[in-house]
Amino acid sequence: MTVFTTVYLLSTYIIIPVLAPMFGRQKIQTTNNLKPATYMTVLLNRNYVKPQLNNVLQQISKNRQIRFLDANFPFINKFPLLPHLSHNDGNKIDLSFIYEKQNGEITDLTKSTSGYGVFESPRKSEFDQISECKKLGYFQYDYPKYLTFGKKNSELKFSETENKKLINEIVNNNLIDKVFIEPHLVKRLNLKNDKIRYHGCRAVRHDDHIHIQIKNN
Ligand SMILES: [Zn+2]
Repeated sequence: MTVFTTVYLLSTYIIIPVLAPMFGRQKIQTTNNLKPATYMTVLLNRNYVKPQLNNVLQQISKNRQIRFLDANFPFINKFPLLPHLSHNDGNKIDLSFIYEKQNGEITDLTKSTSGYGVFESPRKSEFDQISECKKLGYFQYDYPKYLTFGKKNSELKFSETENKKLINEIVNNNLIDKVFIEPHLVKRLNLKNDKIRYHGCRAVRHDDHIHIQIKNN
């Protein structure tokens, strides 16, 4: 084992789990229904959140499979990592969309290795916020397309029913402050709640995942 591997294993499995609670973070408690979409999240130690967010995740995964993406580095505030520079306080996490198979069966599979970068793009009849942002010069808006680390399961379909149910359950949770998804999806799913906000052109497009955050406490 190299020195690097030894330090890495020690810090990931021993030092960080022990120290994180001192900084108000805890490891996301995985269950049969709640798992990381990719083990990269765990390998990069991006699976630490505040206890309140851990509770929200337990609640929203009670009746369905939830695959989480990027959460937060354990205890260093202001530790930005793409794609979400704002994930630096333990209050925020990204969730995978829910997909269905050709026969309509709901699955927990995702459409890219990283969980990011495969978009549920605006239809011709829908408002295209992505083009608007790019027209304004925010070319980074589209950059998650470079972060798939490989596309897969292209036959899967975005489940309108299940994503709508999930987002409605999220916004109805008292601890939740904001949810970000792309405007055309808000409209397509007929979502109506003040907690669903537009993140702005300075961020990245949110039609490949759901961003949720709890109130700062
Ligand atoms: Zn996010």
